[in-house]
Amino acid sequence: MRAVLFQGVGRVEVGEAPEPQLETPWDAIVRVEWAGICGSDLHLYHGKFPLLPGSVLGHEFVGVVEALGEGVRGLEVGTRVVGTFHVACGVCPFCRRGEFHLCERRGVYGYGPLFGNLPGTQAERVRVPFAEVNLRPLPQGLPPERALFAGDILATAYGALKNTRLKPGERVAVVGAGPVGLMAVEAAFVMGASKVLAVDRVEARLSFAEGLGAIPVNSTKENPVRRVREETDGEGADVVVEAVGGTATLALAFELVRPGGRISAVGVDNAPSFPFPLSSGLVRDISFRLGLANVHRHLDELLALLATGRLRPEQVVSHTLPLEEAAEGYRLFDTKEALKVLLKVG
Ligand code: NAD
Ligand code: ZN
Ligand code: ZN
Repeated sequence: MRAVLFQGVGRVEVGEAPEPQLETPWDAIVRVEWAGICGSDLHLYHGKFPLLPGSVLGHEFVGVVEALGEGVRGLEVGTRVVGTFHVACGVCPFCRRGEFHLCERRGVYGYGPLFGNLPGTQAERVRVPFAEVNLRPLPQGLPPERALFAGDILATAYGALKNTRLKPGERVAVVGAGPVGLMAVEAAFVMGASKVLAVDRVEARLSFAEGLGAIPVNSTKENPVRRVREETDGEGADVVVEAVGGTATLALAFELVRPGGRISAVGVDNAPSFPFPLSSGLVRDISFRLGLANVHRHLDELLALLATGRLRPEQVVSHTLPLEEAAEGYRLFDTKEALKVLLKVG
């Protein structure tokens, strides 16, 4: 089958990959229709995490169930489904507590040996382990290009805000106006935020955030700390979402948050540690939340919001390319010429 293959730092190409097979009674094979390119794929593209050349990339997808193991309940061949970017077993102690992102058998498609060694979803077909847990049929009338976002970046942003227990009327600062940050802007308004500030360095992305109702803050042109204070009666944001990854933007999040405020960081980075502002964090009573998304936890709620059009994340898609043009898609997204790239697979 055709698939997007990692070939080394800054190099991807579309080539032949082995056809996936049912390996356990709980597997499904999904024929992929749409696959996204995510900021997390760029970390692999940049060589931040190890991946063998020839590995299939990608973890965002919508497709049609093509084959099912005999143990899978609740799904049928021919059903259109959205997949979660991380897989969970549904039965281990973590899954039973609803902590699917901590599952003992967890993995992330296309993320190499550190994350379960699962081939990626930027491919004609993909094997889905524990299919009953990791696939959801699309609600009636929900377009696949919109549903795709529930399986990764929308769920990431929504979960990040849920983790802060955002209350209606609160003021939110989002660091990073990439696709994940823009999902946070949209979701924050749906949850009742009175004001959202979006901090980035790329003008086109900030304009997009402004179109969603956020106040754009270009941190190369103005001091984001001063601007966020000005916009929040001198206090700082009640809630800060960090959607970039790395120590500089984490440090900025601590400066943007008000005393008593909450920070939720979902940006991915390979830095082993971060100089935590211990005494000021203590005195200012800051809550700091970190972690990979728990997509399964909010999936059904998000599919309902998507089906009614309350959330319209597909607005961020700037480029739709055929699978064969994936290398160009990676280039466009990496250089930020593209805001979000979807690959049309089948
Ligand atoms: P992206 O690379 O398109 O977006 C990052 C944005 O941050 C860009 O717009 C960039 O201009 C901006 N930026 C970079 N440095 C900055 C700085 N110093 N100050 C302000 N803005 C800055 O990627 P994305 O798809 O939006 O993903 C964002 C992050 O979320 C990535 O690290 C990705 O790996 C992560 N992510 C995490 C999860 C999770 O489960 N925690 C899930 C999906 C994505
Ligand atoms: Zn992702
Ligand atoms: Zn589990």
